[in-house]
Amino acid sequence: MLSRPKSTIAKSSIGKTARGVATLLLAATVAVSSSATAFAQAVPVVRDAEIEALVRDYARPIFKAAGLANDGVDIVLVNDQSFNAFVTGRRMFINTGALMMAETPNEVIGVIAHEAGHIAGGHQQKLREQLERAKTMAILATLLGAGAIVAGATTNSRGLAGAGIGVAAGGGEMAQRSILAYQRTEEATADRSAITYLNATGQSGMGMLKTFARFQSALSLSGTQVDPYRISHPMPRERIANLEVLVKQSPNVDKLDLPALQQRHDMMRIKIAAYMGGQAAATRLMRKNPGSLASRYGDAQMAYLYGNLGAALTKTNALIKEQPKNPYFQELRGDILMKANKPKDAADAYAKAVSLDPMRSGLLPVSLGQALMAIGTPDSLKKAVVQINNGLGRDKENTVGYRYLAQAYGELGNVPAAELATAEGHFYGGDYKNAKIFAMRAQKDMKRGEPGWLRAQDIINYNPSGKLKK
Ligand SMILES: [Zn+2]
Repeated sequence: MLSRPKSTIAKSSIGKTARGVATLLLAATVAVSSSATAFAQAVPVVRDAEIEALVRDYARPIFKAAGLANDGVDIVLVNDQSFNAFVTGRRMFINTGALMMAETPNEVIGVIAHEAGHIAGGHQQKLREQLERAKTMAILATLLGAGAIVAGATTNSRGLAGAGIGVAAGGGEMAQRSILAYQRTEEATADRSAITYLNATGQSGMGMLKTFARFQSALSLSGTQVDPYRISHPMPRERIANLEVLVKQSPNVDKLDLPALQQRHDMMRIKIAAYMGGQAAATRLMRKNPGSLASRYGDAQMAYLYGNLGAALTKTNALIKEQPKNPYFQELRGDILMKANKPKDAADAYAKAVSLDPMRSGLLPVSLGQALMAIGTPDSLKKAVVQINNGLGRDKENTVGYRYLAQAYGELGNVPAAELATAEGHFYGGDYKNAKIFAMRAQKDMKRGEPGWLRAQDIINYNPSGKLKK
C-alpha cells in the first residue's frame, strides 16, 4: 500500500524540529510562511515497501562503489511531481516525479551515481552533516517550507494527492533553490565520479546522460514549474557535452538494465501513477505495454482503488499464481481484503508478505498488525502489538505505526504503554513538545527504571540541538 503520514500538528513547532537546519534555511522559507497553514495540510512523504526496496536496490551497489554507507540506505519518497533527488549521509530523498519520469532503472541509477559523486567529493559537507542529524520529517518540513509534519491517520493517498503535489511544488522550490546547490566545478567532479561508479558496477552512463540532457534542453522549461534538481545542479551545454564524451568512452555504454529490474521499474511507475496520479495517468502507462505483468498489476491496483474489490481480488490472485514469491502481490491482496472487511484473510496475506520480504521492510509487519487489530479479539490484539513493535523495530521513523501501536495498547487497557507509543510518534515526527507531554504522562504509571520509563525519560531529556541532558 502506498500511504503517507497525515499532518495534524500546526506550524508552531517548526522552529524546534531541526534547529540547525531550520536556522540555516529559514531565510529561504520566510517568504512562504504566511501560507504555512496551507503547507501544514500538505503531506510530502509517501511510504511504500516495494518502491523503497527497489530504489534501495538501485542505490546499494553505487554507494558501495563510492565507498559510502555500508549498512543500507534509507529511502525517503517525496510526494512531488517535479524532478528532484538528493542524498544526505544515509538517507536518500527522491521525488515520486523523478521515478515517474525515468523510463529505465538506469536513468535513476545514473542520478544516484551523480549524487554519490557529490558526497564522495565532500561537496556541501557542512550542510549534509546538519541534515544528517535532523529527523526525516524535520528535514522535509524545512525543505518544503511546511509546518511540522507529524504522525496522524493513514489516509487513502488518492484523496490528498492533488493538494499535496501542488502545495509542495510552490514552497519547496524556494527552499530547495538554496539547499545543496552546487558549483559548476563540483558538477564536473560529480559527473566524473558517477562514471567511475557506473563502470565499477558494470552499468551504462546513458541513463544519466539522457536525464541531464533532458534538463539541459528547452523541453524542461515547457512545464508549469521548474524542476528543483535543475536549479541546484547547473547544466550548461558544455557540461552535457563533456559528460557525453565520458559516457561514450565507457565499455558499458550499450549495457541495458536486466529485464527483471526493468520489470520492477515498470511496476513501480504504474503503481505511482495509479496511487498518486489517478486513473488517466496509470492508464496511459499501461497502454504502452498492454498485457505485461506491470500493466496487469496496475489493473489490479486500479480495481482496488476504484472500488471493484471482487475484480481486484481475482486479478491479484492471478498475479500471485504467476509470482508466488512476490511479497507485494500478497500485500495488495491484504489491502483488498482489509477494504472488503475480511481482516482474518487479510492478516494471512500480510503474514505471507512479511515472510516473503527479503528487504525486511518495517511497513509490512505494521500492516499485519492493523489486520490483527481489526480482528479485535484480546489474543489478536496481543499479536498485533508484537507485529507493530516488530515493524517499528525495523523502521523507527514510521510515525503512523506508533499511532496504531497506541491504539492497540489502548484497546488492551495498557494506558501507559499507549501513552509512550504516542510520545514516540510525536518524537519521530519532530514534535518534541507533545512527545514530552505524553512521555511524562506515561511515566506516571510506570515503575521507575523499567525499560518504558527509561525510554520516556530519554524523550523528556531530548534536546533538539543534538545532545542528551543527563
Ligand atoms: Zn550535481
